[in-house]
Amino acid sequence: MARIVCKFGGTSVATTERIAAVAARVKKIADQGHEVAVVVSAMSGATDQLIQWTREVATLQDAREYDVVIASGEQVTVGLTALALQSLGLAARSWLGWQIPIETDDVHAAARITRIADAELVKRMAAGEIPVVAGFQGLSPRRRLTTLGRGGSDLTAVALAAALEADQCDIYTDVDGVYTCDPRIVAKARKLDKITYEEMLEMASLGAKVLQTRSVELAMKYRVRLQVLSSFTDTPGTFVVDEDEIVEQALVSGVTYSRNEAKITLTQVADRPGVAAGIFGPLAEAAVNVDMIVQSAADDGTTDVTFTLPRTDLERALKLLNGLKPALGFKSVLADKNVVKVSVIGVGMRSHAGVAARMFKTLSDKGINIQVISTSEIKVSVLIAEDYTELALRALHTAYGLDAA
Ligand code: ASP
Ligand code: MG
Repeated sequence: MARIVCKFGGTSVATTERIAAVAARVKKIADQGHEVAVVVSAMSGATDQLIQWTREVATLQDAREYDVVIASGEQVTVGLTALALQSLGLAARSWLGWQIPIETDDVHAAARITRIADAELVKRMAAGEIPVVAGFQGLSPRRRLTTLGRGGSDLTAVALAAALEADQCDIYTDVDGVYTCDPRIVAKARKLDKITYEEMLEMASLGAKVLQTRSVELAMKYRVRLQVLSSFTDTPGTFVVDEDEIVEQALVSGVTYSRNEAKITLTQVADRPGVAAGIFGPLAEAAVNVDMIVQSAADDGTTDVTFTLPRTDLERALKLLNGLKPALGFKSVLADKNVVKVSVIGVGMRSHAGVAARMFKTLSDKGINIQVISTSEIKVSVLIAEDYTELALRALHTAYGLDAA
């Protein structure tokens, strides 16, 4: 007998038929003798609609009221899921964030969970009741409703699994696991049986949208065994686990890409102390998340500074930089939106040389120019022209031996 947290995402609870199917799945698990807690998201599209409504009534948002509105999608699905479970003869009870409570800080719309008071849930689960917990919601120290940021139901599920010391946290979604690359682009992409927390974290933050990044961080911290699987099939998914659980570690386990990238180059920046701080300080204060940075020196005492940022922040950043021009004294600001970041990820590269070299060689064989490079212990990222996304992903997937047979 195990204790399992099952989380169902928006597509898994998108209609009442789907909710009935979720209930049937949960019944199967409970009938095997396991203790189950369920976490659900809002019906897919519901949260977007709620956000839209807040925008229609107010341009300046009071974050506390925004949270009250956007958390309501999960109130609908917990109630419906509990009803569906009850109609199958199971003891089930819905729980909103504040009822447990799931305590958070008071950073509305992006709250952090500080504590989950799980004693009552544990008692009821032991007595055979299935708690159905609203994802995404919390309670602030000032007793206001908070939300955890978009995709936050994953976080609720992982935090609950950690609090309950669950044996496993199953994240049901509309894909059947984590793939070596986006299967819509690379037809030969394979589903991974297992992936390490570190790799999953890199994949989530580098563009693979299967799990919310913060939830992976939390799972890694508390060593929560995660499984990503589909609620539409019965096949096992991908386990996100500790490195030592993976016997034969591939050099590279995945290739990802992110199109939400833009590149800015400041030309002929004075080459003296304080200039980088003068550029990136104001950007940081404006909450522009700068990613890759390169600086190249010319022999005339100036440098070109190139960096990447989310495409969605480009206009804002350009405005800010143009305002700084008199103070910083660079020549011009160049911007490019036609870029994509492609990354290869694998804990295996910690102990093997040549991963980056193979990437560069593969891209050059295809005539693809690399604009910016960045590396960490377990990933190599390059910025290339967006038009080459498909070509680059397919070539790299083959080059690292990831293609399905
Ligand atoms: N319903 C919330 C959202 O759409 C939380 C979630 O789905 O995880 O962001
Ligand atoms: Mg989601």
